[in-house]
Amino acid sequence: MQPDLILHNATVRTMDGDRPLASAVAVAGNRIVAVGDEDEVTALAGPQTRMIDAGGGTLLPGFYESHLHLFAGGVSLSQLNGAAIFGAEALREAVQAFAAANPEADLLVAYGANYTMFGDDVRISRQLLDDAIADRPFYMIACDFHTGWGNSVAMERAGLLQGRDVGPSSEVVMDPDGTATGELREGGAMSLMLALKSTGSRENLGMAGAEPDSVTEAEREADIASLLEGMEYCARHGITKLINMDGNRYQLELLAEMERRGTLPCRIEVPYRIPIDAAGDPVGKAVEMTRDFATDKVSCGRVKMFMDGVFDSWTALKLEDYPDRPGFRGEPIVPPELFARLCTEADAAGLQISVHAVGNGAVRHVLDGYEAAARANGPRDSRHRVEHIDNIHPDDLPRLKALGCVASMQPVHPPGSAGLPLEPTVTLMGRENWPWAFNWRAIADAGVPLCFATDWPISPLDPLYAIQCALTRKPWADGLPDPRIGLDECLAAYTSGGAFAAFDEDRLGRIAPGMLADLVLLAGDLETLHDDGALQVRAVLTICDGQITHEAA
Ligand SMILES: [Zn+2]
Repeated sequence: MQPDLILHNATVRTMDGDRPLASAVAVAGNRIVAVGDEDEVTALAGPQTRMIDAGGGTLLPGFYESHLHLFAGGVSLSQLNGAAIFGAEALREAVQAFAAANPEADLLVAYGANYTMFGDDVRISRQLLDDAIADRPFYMIACDFHTGWGNSVAMERAGLLQGRDVGPSSEVVMDPDGTATGELREGGAMSLMLALKSTGSRENLGMAGAEPDSVTEAEREADIASLLEGMEYCARHGITKLINMDGNRYQLELLAEMERRGTLPCRIEVPYRIPIDAAGDPVGKAVEMTRDFATDKVSCGRVKMFMDGVFDSWTALKLEDYPDRPGFRGEPIVPPELFARLCTEADAAGLQISVHAVGNGAVRHVLDGYEAAARANGPRDSRHRVEHIDNIHPDDLPRLKALGCVASMQPVHPPGSAGLPLEPTVTLMGRENWPWAFNWRAIADAGVPLCFATDWPISPLDPLYAIQCALTRKPWADGLPDPRIGLDECLAAYTSGGAFAAFDEDRLGRIAPGMLADLVLLAGDLETLHDDGALQVRAVLTICDGQITHEAA
């Protein structure tokens, strides 16, 4: 068969044990048909073959982003990025400029805000936000998406200024004077603020496993445009497969529509996020979604749950007391009996399970649930996943392996990396836990398969930046074990590791004949990812399903 495309003059890192290195790859249709030396592959060219000189760059399997939130990410591309904003003056300038550029917005939204924006010991309040902008509703979302802060007019319009019961595990934080401080914790509170947006904020429904009530044709097209914008942004960073980590049927319907139109630049899997009350038959719904969406490009096959929140708002579940709150360790979001039942049902239905677990207590609860499922259903190759693992008790490392779990981790999440401040996170985590914080090395050494991701838009999306963060991570104190893994392991976590973590290893994550043609060409020396400073490597060509989805000018 004559190849449609030959990439040559490349350093091909195949991630394939049989042939780890090559210099040329041929693609026909949506498959890789040959991998080998320059001469042997270019000899396959016919008159219709497009020859691409890789210029000595590195060719990898397309990046596999194992945990992100595409819909919110696509929408965030038109919001104010707060990650680099520190101090009242900087916030005022940024918000005023953003407000002037968005005169029609019902709610001005910033994302990526650091908890310590106004100083290490200053909790963000609506009054501090009023100093930045008082005459229009302004809402700022924390870098971890688990907390938000509204200014006074936003709190007033959302009906939250006098406080409100927002359901379990969520909170409108109150001042002793009886009014709200402006801080909103977790989805039950945060969604009420986002409802102020005339666009309806449908991008966040999947975080709660909710479906929109009714959607007009125009709203549907606007949502498709947001998803496409997010995917094109992924393609520009060399990403070819996404595992979405919020999910509802609505998103799958939009994505399937995009596939029918031939406009999907990435493959995507969307799970069903089991709602917090687990009402009705959530596993049955996930099974239906899995049956109804099952192409090479758009699929389900997974349930997503949350066991805890984050350290910065005391919602991470710990095995010890919080240092500043004796007797308090956080609460499991899903009670153990319910969690064990849901895991057992989902496992019996052949679904994969992914659960957000940040604190060491959350990781333990999640493993208990997976263990209950394995006991009830018998062992199988389940690859249930623990998402994040910011902290783990060393006793639970061998359990991860024994239960056949996969660790899904984010190199851009450790405090001190990717521009994140150390405090308050490292103190709330507790010094005794630092040796087991984001410890990729210990997890990999325990024989646990690892996949990497960014949780975009919670952190910057670029896989190369994430790998640089992994390789350049600084210890929080002297004498801690080095948690880093090497460059090759990082590349694997973003390619073959991601594919394994989603049962895609027979089709994706390796460059070998017969595999689907998902590739990324990188320009620049990968060894420079060991250095701090500006990135020296970038994605110059992305191919998904045999089609070019990004080509740098
Ligand atoms: Zn997430």
